[in-house]
Amino acid sequence: MTMTSLQRTIARPVMVSGVGLHSGAPSAARLLPAPVDSGVIFQRVDLDGAPMIPARLGEVVATERGVVLGRQAPVATVEHLLSAARGLGIDNIRVELQGEELPCGDGSARIFVDALTQAGPMEQAAPRRPIVLDVPVWVSAGSSIIVAVPAPRFHVTYVTTADGVAVGPQMAEFNAETDDYATAIAPARTWGMLTEVESLRARGLARGASLATTLVIGEEGFVNEPRFPNEMARHKILDAVGDLSLLGRPLRAHILAVRAGHSLHVALAREITRRIGDQDGVVGG
Ligand SMILES: [Zn+2]
Repeated sequence: MTMTSLQRTIARPVMVSGVGLHSGAPSAARLLPAPVDSGVIFQRVDLDGAPMIPARLGEVVATERGVVLGRQAPVATVEHLLSAARGLGIDNIRVELQGEELPCGDGSARIFVDALTQAGPMEQAAPRRPIVLDVPVWVSAGSSIIVAVPAPRFHVTYVTTADGVAVGPQMAEFNAETDDYATAIAPARTWGMLTEVESLRARGLARGASLATTLVIGEEGFVNEPRFPNEMARHKILDAVGDLSLLGRPLRAHILAVRAGHSLHVALAREITRRIGDQDGVVGG
């Protein structure tokens, strides 16, 4: 995340391929430059008419296991690509997809960070218009809460817990001005409980999930080696960066989240949008 006030795209197209985390099916995405103010736009080039699905809140159709966009045609597991784009300060790209789900790489955002870096981030001749908060905005559900507090820059503090297993609570922090997204956040992988993976598979989900794509937690602790002592909390920040980018504009706020996830991230973004009203990006009392 850069403090540069100009919008950015990529200089040239780049391909990303692999398998989908849930479908397990082969998947390929082509990332292309896009004009100013387009944001991230997915395009299902495998369907008649190649429908476009903008990465905006109004297109969110599911948040249960990853974020699914697309009222007309679905695009699944978009959050890690959205996170990489926002994390690298890339505002505008078009993503041509041959199927329904994005490739999952190693379960982190590395595959997308590598591709976007290779594609050459490039400034465009239009300023960003960040969303600025004047008052705190929050949403909660049960024992989970997420708050956006006014701040001069994007900053996230995340606390996560895994119930019923020998892994303690974790906390991670990311300051967009002083921390490096590509090395501190992007490598943190999707995590899941061993017991959960089995029940997801029974429902036809997580077919691409394995020790190569997921940090797996068994009753006794981590099944594979974590990349960071707080990799779970770092991955939650990765998801939050991607989900909040559905606002369509950079957010200047300090996000405090405890035991949250995709649903609450999206709920917070919707609440911020509702409060913005027609004040052109300033949420005030
Ligand atoms: Zn994730």
